[in-house]
Amino acid sequence: MGFKQTFICSNCDYKVVTGAGRDVGMIAINNTFVCKDCNSLQDLRVIKPAYGDFKADKNILHGDPTCSKCGGKKFVLWDHLGKPCPKCNKGVMKPSKHGSSIRWD
Ligand SMILES: [Zn+2]
Ligand SMILES: [Zn+2]
Repeated sequence: MGFKQTFICSNCDYKVVTGAGRDVGMIAINNTFVCKDCNSLQDLRVIKPAYGDFKADKNILHGDPTCSKCGGKKFVLWDHLGKPCPKCNKGVMKPSKHGSSIRWD
């Protein structure tokens, strides 16, 4: 199973629980996208490439997903390395110490 974590913007108060990038589960692969209508982060299912098909685009959305916040259907892949806040475009999404993250201690 994949893991999800709470992320909070360093600039505004946007908060989201996300897998923050590619999240490979047993039967599904998720990736994190930005809804172009409401600028929220959405973990969406992407098509799992056939075994050995390394050239396949791993970020093709599975089916016809809609945004859980606004019902929008336009998505762009989120930069999960830079983690820019999709709401204010100034802050960076940081993992919350108080969210539903995995505990190591
Ligand atoms: Zn922000
Ligand atoms: Zn939306």
